[in-house]
Amino acid sequence: MVETLAAAYAAVQQKIEAAARRAGRPVSAVRLMAVSKGFPRAAVDAAMAAGLRLFGENRVQEAEEKFTEPSDIELHLIGHLQRNKARTAAAVFSCVQSIDKTETAESLDARCAERGMVMDVLLELNASGEQSKSGFADRDQLLRGLDAISRLSHLRVRGLMTVGPLCNDATRIRSAFSLLRTLFEEIRGSGQTAFDTLSMGMSGDFESAIEEGSTLVRIGTALFGPRQPR
Ligand SMILES: *Cc1c(COP(=O)(O)O)cnc(C)c1O
Repeated sequence: MVETLAAAYAAVQQKIEAAARRAGRPVSAVRLMAVSKGFPRAAVDAAMAAGLRLFGENRVQEAEEKFTEPSDIELHLIGHLQRNKARTAAAVFSCVQSIDKTETAESLDARCAERGMVMDVLLELNASGEQSKSGFADRDQLLRGLDAISRLSHLRVRGLMTVGPLCNDATRIRSAFSLLRTLFEEIRGSGQTAFDTLSMGMSGDFESAIEEGSTLVRIGTALFGPRQPR
């Protein structure tokens, strides 16, 4: 397991470097997240042995069960957060990338206040307009959310996140990423000084995401192999 994972990691890293080079961006501008959802703790241990330090999970309870020991890794939530899971989320994650409602952010802020901590968050945009996906429905709703969430003193809005459209249309995928990049630059230019993270790109589309400006790619399958359906 450790050897295959190290080989997969090296292959992904090479593609990240090539994509960054094509875009004229420094490789250091792109962080690699290992998405360990659906895989057991042993997979996390193998990834840590290979040198990975940033992990993503999409379910609060699964993450809580898998990441029990304190360690030097960083763990982000990348799946939908329900308000009643905000307390656990504040305890388990260092960043919630999938904020898609002001009310959820308010619950998370209150739990972080109780713990005396400030948590990083990203706002998720449903960039493809697919109904099945979470995220703020459009630009205006996201900007309204940002306005309210920026005022919460125990959350720090670090940027934006999206899941690209699930299709084989490279042009459509790219334009979804480009749209988010434009919005990101616009918000950053308007004085959101902590805005430094643009999370986009998964196993199937991370190279175009990097070419379109992604600063954090979320990779599961390309590192760990196929997940069991659930
Ligand atoms: C599962 C998941 C990923 C990783 O997907 P792969 O295609 O396996 O790389 C990335 N982001 C989110 C939000 C996910 O749910």
